[in-house]
Amino acid sequence: MQIIHYPHPTLRHKSKPVQRVDAELRKMVSQMFELMYEANGVGLAANQVDLPLRLFVVNTAAKPGEGEELVFINPVLSKPKGNEESEEGCLSLPGIYGNVRRPKQIHVNAYSMRGEEISADLTGLLARVVQHETDHLDGVLFIDRMTESAQRTLEGPLEEFQMEFQQRQQEGSIAAERAILERLSGLEKQYC
Ligand code: ZN
Repeated sequence: MQIIHYPHPTLRHKSKPVQRVDAELRKMVSQMFELMYEANGVGLAANQVDLPLRLFVVNTAAKPGEGEELVFINPVLSKPKGNEESEEGCLSLPGIYGNVRRPKQIHVNAYSMRGEEISADLTGLLARVVQHETDHLDGVLFIDRMTESAQRTLEGPLEEFQMEFQQRQQEGSIAAERAILERLSGLEKQYC
């Protein structure tokens, strides 16, 4: 398992709800936490590790043994309140940062790994991370939510990501588009 970078097609895949949690999925979720910590991240969505599943992991402390490890399965957001601009980054776009305007407070309904219902009003960093990660599950990246003028300043760096992706696909270290989509549909049959 590894973190995939823009413009990998799985990052644009709209994830389907997870219907079953098995030992293999539990192992994948713990690997997601490991990868997130290695990259000093506070959240990681399943799309970002090439999985078409509607779940993400969060630890706002960004360190194992600190803070709280949260897994959100099939999250649904509601009751947005307020508005706040803050700088975001993304483990699938390393080195890219920019301001994104989002609701300040949000309600989340989801399931934990044990199948328990989560229902909470979130504010602060956790609210922002949960919104950023839920976007991933819909195939939306934080750069999509930046202003047009901010997006224009990123054209060069994003082109570099595209060139690297193409090169890796030509070398064969990233599968061809068709093989990627076939793999995703196999995983969907298994879990969704
Ligand atoms: Zn991200």
